[in-house]
Amino acid sequence: MRHLVLVLGDQLSVDSAAFEGFDPLCDRVLMVEARDESEHVPSTKMRTAVFLSAMRHFAEAVTARAWPLDYLRLGTHRFDTVADALADALARHRPDALVMVEAGEWRLEQAIAGCCAEAGVRVDMRDDLHFMASRRDFIDDARGKQRLVMEAFYRRMRKVHGVLMTPEGEPVGGAWNYDHENRGAFGRQGPGLLPAPPSFPPDAITREVLRDVVQHFGDHYGQCDAFDWPVTRADALVALRDFMQHRLQDFGQFQDAMWTGEPFLYHALISAALNLKLLDPREVVAAAVAQYEAGSAPLAAVEGFVRQILGWREFIRGVYWWRMPKLLEANALDHHAPLPDWYWTGEVQMNCMHNAIGQTLKHGYAHHIQRLMVTGNFALTFGMAPAEVHAWYLSVYVDAVEWVEAPNTLGMALYADGARFVTKPYAAGGAYIQRMSNYCKGCRYQPTQRTGDDACPMTVMYWDFVARHAPMLEKNPRTVMMVKNLARFGADEVAAIRETAQRMRDQPDRL
Ligand code: FAD
Ligand code: SF4
Repeated sequence: MRHLVLVLGDQLSVDSAAFEGFDPLCDRVLMVEARDESEHVPSTKMRTAVFLSAMRHFAEAVTARAWPLDYLRLGTHRFDTVADALADALARHRPDALVMVEAGEWRLEQAIAGCCAEAGVRVDMRDDLHFMASRRDFIDDARGKQRLVMEAFYRRMRKVHGVLMTPEGEPVGGAWNYDHENRGAFGRQGPGLLPAPPSFPPDAITREVLRDVVQHFGDHYGQCDAFDWPVTRADALVALRDFMQHRLQDFGQFQDAMWTGEPFLYHALISAALNLKLLDPREVVAAAVAQYEAGSAPLAAVEGFVRQILGWREFIRGVYWWRMPKLLEANALDHHAPLPDWYWTGEVQMNCMHNAIGQTLKHGYAHHIQRLMVTGNFALTFGMAPAEVHAWYLSVYVDAVEWVEAPNTLGMALYADGARFVTKPYAAGGAYIQRMSNYCKGCRYQPTQRTGDDACPMTVMYWDFVARHAPMLEKNPRTVMMVKNLARFGADEVAAIRETAQRMRDQPDRL
């Protein structure tokens, strides 16, 4: 055999660089469903189901091309890890080289490299051309720097790829950023009638996956009976088109808003399809720009969306490889509280957390602000151990792959990596949740209350966080006001807040 081509669960594209020069006469594809991928963090049923279903559908696409394939299905082989299965395949096939594209996780890349070294097989690790920025170039640019700024990277990407640029090299519309137009809430009347996203009911392959997930991971958290995610390229294109036609127009304005019982709102719902490589970021960006050029969506919405894909998504990937492996140990704020059990069940009286976690366990989805300003914000201000919070985020979302999850969780939500690529900790109290959602209306706590039985845990923990980290926060012009505002309360009230916070921290199960 010439090449054994390893395709990991998040590399499901026939256009992958791993297939360049593929010759079915002397090359073979290897795909492995390994228990450890669902167990090294306790992956929820929905997350595992999405990955396995997409892998099995992709295997069909490979077979349809008459490409030789070893597909190791869960429960039909004895290997716990991808590396174990690979070692066996290398011994059986004795290929001249193992071919693959860069993995989405440092852990896997290391394990695969180790396995090949042991077997004496050369690794032909190819650049992952799915991404619009090269990992190598990003790291070269970042070398020696203490901090990186997303905005500078994003502007470079706009210029390099000619996205929303005039022929004179200026940003279309005269500004790079329309964030100030993109912070709307729904107001008292709520979002009204929302465009329903398209449905992807389980086909025969997915139904079998769902049975396997229940059989093999029945004791894992979450549910998978509401499975409704695109798991083929064709379905992913339907999801993309639907977003472009029905939700992009309002995406920008309501990007940060939240509403009880409305998990999806105007969001794209394409992160899993993108991360599995069912969609190419170039086609996603081009589709959004086309909506603007056709006069079907305002510039603020389109620029806001392009910023997420061309800016944040690419930047975050670069940051991951720049900071690994030390990123996973980062704990700049020295936080050690255990993750409360109710992060895994949603059984908590705080209505904002109950909603965000509840939809996460049901659908494997919460939008960015729910992840950042509800579950993430509370984990930050409560002082939860970053490694435990990271394991939770990596387990529960259908789009969770470490290259994107870890920098978002550890770097952005928890400030565990310090000011490497964010300018301040994203900490807020109940007033923010009240402004951006209707969660507080249905809550047993009062968002404005800082002490007493009805004190809002978001608010209490926010002020306690400000008190605990005042020396750091007052040095930063973006957070100094937090400390000044706390000082206005006076010493007695601050002491009462801190006592309430300690009580909550001692008994998280009562929240
Ligand atoms: P939309 O809100 O419609 O945004 C469009 C697209 O932009 C997304 O599909 C995504 O590809 C991209 N995007 C937006 N923000 C980011 C970001 N900060 N980083 C990378 N891409 C972004 N995203 C993941 O794909 N996987 C994760 O495991 C993940 N974990 C996160 C953990 C935390 C603590 C936070 C704060 C954010 C995380 N995100 C993650 C980013 C973001 O929340 C999701 O990409 C988004 O909610 C996916 O939903 P959507 O497709 O409807 O996106
Ligand atoms: Fe969340 Fe506090 Fe509002 Fe309740 S009152 S929903 S805990 S912010």
